[in-house]
Amino acid sequence: MGTVVLDVTPAGRFAPSPSGDLHIGNLRTAVLADLFARTSGRRFLMRVEDLDRVREGAEERQLADLAALGIRWAEPVIRQSERRDVYAAVVDGLTAEGRTFECFCTRREILDAPSAPHAPLGAYPGTCRDLTDAERDERRRTRPAAIRLRADVTEFTVHDALHGPFTGDVDDFVLRRNDGTPAYNLAVVVDDTATGVDQVVRGDDLLSSAPRQAYLATLLGATPPEYAHVPMVLNRYGARLAKRDGAVTLADLAEQGVDAAGVLSMIATSLGMADQGESVTLDILASRFDPARLPREPWVFVPGHGGVPA
Ligand code: GLU
Repeated sequence: MGTVVLDVTPAGRFAPSPSGDLHIGNLRTAVLADLFARTSGRRFLMRVEDLDRVREGAEERQLADLAALGIRWAEPVIRQSERRDVYAAVVDGLTAEGRTFECFCTRREILDAPSAPHAPLGAYPGTCRDLTDAERDERRRTRPAAIRLRADVTEFTVHDALHGPFTGDVDDFVLRRNDGTPAYNLAVVVDDTATGVDQVVRGDDLLSSAPRQAYLATLLGATPPEYAHVPMVLNRYGARLAKRDGAVTLADLAEQGVDAAGVLSMIATSLGMADQGESVTLDILASRFDPARLPREPWVFVPGHGGVPA
């Protein structure tokens, strides 16, 4: 039958989107994901989230940059673009259980729709949830459908190593976009569940997505992972760090004379795990790692100044 037996022993992971080069904020999150995994005896997986917004050559450069920092992962690298049939099968399974519905709404229609009473702000207003067969046939003629989850909760609580118990909104979120692309929230949960990931370390911009994802995991019969949503790196204006902020990638920093070891040292210093300029390795950092002592505030990174505390 050619059945692939996946290793589902406990694992952590890093899941970059290959839309460009990783900046120092992404690299810092990757270092933390590695440290959380190795200090808790987990395998470490690398998953490339390449279902959309792929830039030519970005994956190779991202993996090379992570390796240059000393990060190692279990082969093979998992690529979401190679797993479309798995996502499709999961959506089909949920549909067979009556847990999905077709949605024909445009973004505009969702924004303009009156929200359901007591629904959280920004939640899907339920427009297509209970269409009649005739209405659905009619809509199908005008627009391809997205597939949404028919959620039977409005909130869900996850456990986060840095944020404690976190309760957030769950709505009828999209599982498959109307261009056929599996949605981020679906792919993350399917992959984490299929590969034994029971520890999710990522930027805290995704904390609000965790309740939806954890809820979906329970529908797939899995136990939601332990989360650690780590602080972001910001620019001097308090906005999320971006390429336009200057020398923020490993290649940019190398041009300024800071090699990968220097970048790891800067990251470690920003985490309170090394003195300024001290040379470190991931093994050394692992021996010093204590999640309880991680900074809870964002790191303000000003290129050329080695980053300053917020
Ligand atoms: N691919 C996402 C990103 O680069 C991360 C997704 C995740 O860690 O769940 O922001």
